[in-house]
Amino acid sequence: MNMNMNVNKEYEVVIIGGGPAGLTAGLYTSRARLNSLLIEKGLVGGQIVTAELVDNYPGFPEGISGFELGQLMHQQARKYGLKDVIAEATGIELREGQKKIKTTEGNFIAKAVIIASGSERRKLGIPGEEKFTGKGVSYCATCDAAFFREVPVAVVGGGDTAITEALHLAKFASKVMVIHRRDQLRATRILQEKAFAEPKIEFLWNTVVEDIEGGDIVQRIRLRQVKTGEKSTLDISGGFISVGLKPNTDYLKSILSLDITGLIITDGKMETEIPGIFAAGDIRHNSARQAITAAGDGATAAIYAEKFISE
Ligand SMILES: Cc1cc2nc3c(=O)[nH]c(=O)nc-3n(C[C@H](O)[C@H](O)[C@H](O)COP(=O)(O)OP(=O)(O)OC[C@H]3O[C@@H](n4cnc5c(N)ncnc54)[C@H](O)[C@@H]3O)c2cc1C
Repeated sequence: MNMNMNVNKEYEVVIIGGGPAGLTAGLYTSRARLNSLLIEKGLVGGQIVTAELVDNYPGFPEGISGFELGQLMHQQARKYGLKDVIAEATGIELREGQKKIKTTEGNFIAKAVIIASGSERRKLGIPGEEKFTGKGVSYCATCDAAFFREVPVAVVGGGDTAITEALHLAKFASKVMVIHRRDQLRATRILQEKAFAEPKIEFLWNTVVEDIEGGDIVQRIRLRQVKTGEKSTLDISGGFISVGLKPNTDYLKSILSLDITGLIITDGKMETEIPGIFAAGDIRHNSARQAITAAGDGATAAIYAEKFISE
């Protein structure tokens, strides 16, 4: 990463977020010879760096660690001249046809902005959750279900995502226990019907998880029945937490209208309601929330950002 002091303040394109969407956007804009800056508040690579093995990213038949994939994407974008800075974007203002990106390390000016700040899975915030993330605790069944063949797993949540994940897990696991804090699911009826008809899926109603325990990997969870207060334990090899998403869009509320979950609405060019401001990846309304779709969005946004600038 460049030290902020050495980073210019004016760019053709500024990209916010260094996950697969932002890094791919940066590769495309830099390769198109646009002077581009990527702003990343944490580790370049985004959420995918937490995936132990990514085996659904095309081009890697043996799979690749998420960390390595992030590093390679970064390396490739930098090869074409992408600059980067460690800073947190705190807002965007429109200024005389240009965009001012406010950050914790000062302001940057750009002709076009690509927002790729992703979203985070909501956490339960209970003991053991952080310790066992990637060691049995997962926030993505599409990504990790295949690692849990013929073992018992739990899904925490009762919405569409939780039930979709439970149904997906039932193809692999020996048993899927859905743990929900209410007495009925929030998921759509068709999903509920499928889940109730699936013999491998069982339900624990009015129940919350209080603790995740194990050795090197998850072994059990501690539960509390919210109505009776009764406590119990459940032996599992995997715990999938699906209690919603939190998009990283708080800093954009004053400039963009977001959907009710805080995601950004774009058109097919990845452009938002403000010309020259694009959004890509998990942060986008209706994103499939995969590394490859994020990368695809990033490429699309970059191509249309280039067109926007040249027009
Ligand atoms: C454990 C795990 C395993 C996964 N496994 C797979 C898999 O096997 N296959 C697959 O396809 N997908 C997988 N995913 C999903 C995949 O990681 C995401 O879909 C993808 O990373 C989304 O990319 P993105 O660039 O849109 O956002 P992110 O990867 O979330 O990147 C956003 C970046 O923006 C930064 N940021 C946020 N706010 C700001 C701000 N204000 N200023 C500056 N920077 C900011 C964040 O630090 C982050 O680095 C997995 C996810 C997890 C959590």
